[in-house]
Amino acid sequence: MQDYSEKLNVVTNEKLGRHLVVSERIELGETLLEEQPLLVAPHWECGQLKCSQCLQESYIICRKCQVYPLCMDCSDHDAFECEFFASGAGSRISKDLLVKNYNICALLKLLLLLENPDKRDLCQPLVDRPIKLEDYRNEDGMWQEHEEQVVRPIMASGLVEALPEQQLTPDIIHAHCIRIDSNAFEVTARDGDTLKGVYVWGASLPHHCVPNTVVALDEQFNMKLYAAVPLDTGAIVHTSYTNPLMGTSQRQHQLCLSRHMDCACSRCLDPTELNTHMSSMKCRDCPNGYAVCELLGTGDWRCLNADCGALMPAVDVHELLTEVGSALVEAKGELSAYEDLLAQHQQLFHPNHFLLLDIKQNIASILRAAALMNSLNDPCKKLLSRRVELCGDLLPVCRAVVPGISKLYAIALFEYLLAFVELTELQFAEGDVDKKEYAALLMRARSVAKEALDLLQFEPENSAEGFLTERIGMELERIESDLMKYGKL
Ligand SMILES: [Zn+2]
Ligand SMILES: [Zn+2]
Ligand SMILES: [Zn+2]
Ligand SMILES: [Zn+2]
Repeated sequence: MQDYSEKLNVVTNEKLGRHLVVSERIELGETLLEEQPLLVAPHWECGQLKCSQCLQESYIICRKCQVYPLCMDCSDHDAFECEFFASGAGSRISKDLLVKNYNICALLKLLLLLENPDKRDLCQPLVDRPIKLEDYRNEDGMWQEHEEQVVRPIMASGLVEALPEQQLTPDIIHAHCIRIDSNAFEVTARDGDTLKGVYVWGASLPHHCVPNTVVALDEQFNMKLYAAVPLDTGAIVHTSYTNPLMGTSQRQHQLCLSRHMDCACSRCLDPTELNTHMSSMKCRDCPNGYAVCELLGTGDWRCLNADCGALMPAVDVHELLTEVGSALVEAKGELSAYEDLLAQHQQLFHPNHFLLLDIKQNIASILRAAALMNSLNDPCKKLLSRRVELCGDLLPVCRAVVPGISKLYAIALFEYLLAFVELTELQFAEGDVDKKEYAALLMRARSVAKEALDLLQFEPENSAEGFLTERIGMELERIESDLMKYGKL
């Protein structure tokens, strides 16, 4: 199943390669593309054998080929792969190939897809894309990892001889590794582990930091791409390969590492980052000014306040970012460390700065985990209000960075809803609010829940978002039944 909407055209050009362009207006939520993965595999460094069929933990080996791991629920796996090692060209290869070198499994999958006459054509668009190996060769991290974990074991395994037509060389295998890495979507296995999934059309979607589509993945790793906003004729269908809650410098760094690309999208070129000020600094020379990066000039930060215009050298800003970044890593889940960091830096950054948001998210998730485990002796209103406030701070930013249908915003609303309802119920139970005020607060909770459900309506049922929808639905029912009791519906 590899199917794209009739309202899309395939266009190929030098800058974007093969990509999809809208040929007839598409409405919000409309499905653009549905496809099964070309391959799903664990990350290179995965130490745990996974069932080749369903990708849950594996405890047994296929009896027929004696090479592929399986689980208790699955009795077979891809017939071509099995046959290749059972009686085909791979039968002379050591049976412990995968058990001893499990890191090669994503690449082995690709090699056997290319060997399979029924699947070969499907992979071609991915394999045809040129990779400039010289751009990657001198990088320590990724190149070295591929070399040790994948290239060497494959070259030594006998696969080169068993797949003569592919004329495998270390460079060809390196290029395949890079193709898999730079095109993979993160997918979640049923046991909760993250894996990488490569999709033929998915891989051809160009990146934009403000995506106009949403990627939905169900439990079988099938991808559905739908429109996040209405798309006019001529619009390029794109997705985002970065985390929208990162600031421009962080996103660009990540894109450079993972895809060797420089993004010049509307958000990257906007120093205010869509008016969120996620990378803005507090001006040191005037009371209410904020400084933004002069992207086209020196790269220094300049106060936006026309009467001030003070300059902050880029080196100073970067030094501070690095310092806070390392402190965040150092904080290692320690609540007081995050609170100290926040108190220390609130005066230096815009309240929406990505580093402050990161710190706040850390604090909110610690408070939530603590509430779940009941580890705070006194689930006091002060801490609950703090959680509500922190979750609330994130909402406008999430709303702004991913316009239209946004899972990021839906999840942020859900987190806010949980904290808000918990606080409201406690306030009512302890008599801080009367019936009328309680009903008014519940009405607010109801509208938050409905907004979140609205954003998730196009997600498949059998997906993490599908379960979230159910969870929010239950919360909404509870809110409505309380509203029946205490207020007027
Ligand atoms: Zn299985
Ligand atoms: Zn087998
Ligand atoms: Zn960008
Ligand atoms: Zn200023």
